[in-house]
Amino acid sequence: MQFKEIIGQRQLINQLTRIIDDGKVSHAQLFVGNMGYGTLSLALAYIQYLNCQNRQHYTIDDPGRQLAADSCGECPSCKKFNALMHSDLHIIFPNAATKKVDKNPSSEDFQTEFREYVTANKGYCSFDGWFHKLGIESKQGIINVRDGRELIRQLSLQAYESKYKTAIVWLPEKMNGETANKLLKTIEEPSGNTLILLVAEERERLLSTIISRTQPINVHGIDNTSLAEHLAKEHPDMPFDEVQKIALAAEGNFLTASEYISQSEQRKTFATLFVNWMRKLFKLDIAPLAKTVDEISGLGQEQEKQFLRYVLNVMRACMLKNLAGADSPYLLSFGDEKFSASFPKMITVNNIEKIEKDINESLYNISRNANAKITFMALSFAISKSLKNR
Ligand SMILES: [Zn+2]
Repeated sequence: MQFKEIIGQRQLINQLTRIIDDGKVSHAQLFVGNMGYGTLSLALAYIQYLNCQNRQHYTIDDPGRQLAADSCGECPSCKKFNALMHSDLHIIFPNAATKKVDKNPSSEDFQTEFREYVTANKGYCSFDGWFHKLGIESKQGIINVRDGRELIRQLSLQAYESKYKTAIVWLPEKMNGETANKLLKTIEEPSGNTLILLVAEERERLLSTIISRTQPINVHGIDNTSLAEHLAKEHPDMPFDEVQKIALAAEGNFLTASEYISQSEQRKTFATLFVNWMRKLFKLDIAPLAKTVDEISGLGQEQEKQFLRYVLNVMRACMLKNLAGADSPYLLSFGDEKFSASFPKMITVNNIEKIEKDINESLYNISRNANAKITFMALSFAISKSLKNR
């Protein structure tokens, strides 16, 4: 990873390259800040620069770059670090048992998956995203004592190719007590040319003895301009003022901003489907209704559940609009003025409870692998009836 691939953070990057150029690299460092700010990306670009055989220096006032220096990205060392496949780099991270590794899991077992996940996302990674990649979203992950033991062993070996033997501990707040204590001594008295980078999100959850033995590098939120410019490049079809609003709401966090964008795109798709569905079920025209139901049940189980949650939110928002005139993002995105004006009036205190109950029941059935077509058809009849009993 090169510094130029990082969103914003120019001031911090220029401090980091200066530290390296001045030869003032500390043996144990704590990069701390939300991963959506680019905390892991910065740590990865930092070690790549440190080991680069052909560091590049620039005039800092180049407005396109705003960097004083960067790694070359092309030397053998850069290529290996970029792929996270350097023999002098060792990374440990939270893990847990999976289908593939059902006993005594450790970071060693998941190196390939981790490399894939981190390089695909350029270091903008979250714990949830990582466990999603492993297919174990609901599990608790820890950095266990096997990980600590292996890290110490790796650091005790001679560096093969580079000056430093580097270890990264991603999310050290997930170390259990035994692991943390095991690593303390290594952090305090690192052997020879070893470097330990702890890359954390929550400083408060680390042992104070670990914090006091590491040099802190605090990563703050990405500035709004850089974040908005980056999002606009990624989503050229989105209006720029919408992109700016999202950047502002995300408070410097690229992961949050990406989530907002995917939600707003999903809301648009769901809104079209919802308007269509409500019109058909209100008229109870069976053939066109069955066609819309087919469309909904073709979404796949996960999307069907998300659609039902969306419908639940819309119904509640309609009720609140009637009761207190409150507007909600769920009501603004229908893209059909006639529908937006008339539909909310059909949801009242008299029918909301029954509608919520029916939707929740369908959600439960879909989660239990019930037939989606039958479930959505039954729900269509139930909602149709409720809309008439208002
Ligand atoms: Zn290089």
